Amino acid sequence: MPNDPACILILGGTREARELAERLVDDARFHVITSLAGRTGDPEPVAGEVRVGGFGGVTGLKEFVGSARIALVVDATHPFAAQISGNAALASAETGVPCFQLVRPCWVQTADDRWSHVADIEAAAKEISSGARALVTVGRQEVAPFFARQDIHVVARMIEPLDTNLPDHAEIILARPPFSQQQERRLLEDRRITVLVSKNSGGGATYGKIKAARELGVPVIMIGRPVMRSSTTASSVDGMMTLIGRTLD
Ligand code: NAP
Repeated sequence: MPNDPACILILGGTREARELAERLVDDARFHVITSLAGRTGDPEPVAGEVRVGGFGGVTGLKEFVGSARIALVVDATHPFAAQISGNAALASAETGVPCFQLVRPCWVQTADDRWSHVADIEAAAKEISSGARALVTVGRQEVAPFFARQDIHVVARMIEPLDTNLPDHAEIILARPPFSQQQERRLLEDRRITVLVSKNSGGGATYGKIKAARELGVPVIMIGRPVMRSSTTASSVDGMMTLIGRTLD
């Protein structure tokens, strides 16, 4: 009798997670469950089984891994989703179920880029010069420190609307990546942006703003990634497919 398919839990919320799920569901050796945090009301479709919402910390994640008979966890969350990645690494250490991380490479500064490097959101908000017109692309959950700066104008781009009031010195753009370099150039010019604030997310879908800033000589405040704990990583969906094939064959 053939073996039951091995159950793979993908911690998702990224383009790479969706691509990985799409590749794995076609393979009869695997059953794929993607977990979404539930931050987006209208998430893009994901192949295979999907569950939504937090697990309830490390304990809840360990329980889920046990009850769903997960053979392997792939942490394909955003490079800045440090909490869930830390939880996944701990749950793996405590259950013995392997957790591999799929993490896209960082963007690397070129000679033509004007970046200042900061460690976190608070440092980024402090780094902006008084009187600046800042395009802030850090997500709606982390815009508060920028809104607190009364001496700058904030153009905050996000996917979902804010659930708090917008201060007078700020405006919101609702849009979902990908964005081309041309679109981003137009945005920087139309809103007379003097500084761009970005996480070093990596990947192509939001790199257009970095290229447009380079083209226009607009300085970028680049927020570095949090330190992650996973020992086994792949930087591409292809690389992760190889790792999974080797591990679960
Ligand atoms: P986070 O701070 O690392 O996680 C906070 C809590 O949200 C976790 O402790 C967990 O709750 C829950 N959670 C996060 N991701 C989950 C998932 N895939 N499945 C189930 N529960 C999850 O994460 P975040 O920065 O809020 O990001 C949430 C999601 O949005 C992630 O899936 C991430 O890939 C995506 N995202 C994040 C960013 C970003 O800049 N942070 C950008 C784009 C997309 P419990 O402790 O209750 O399990």
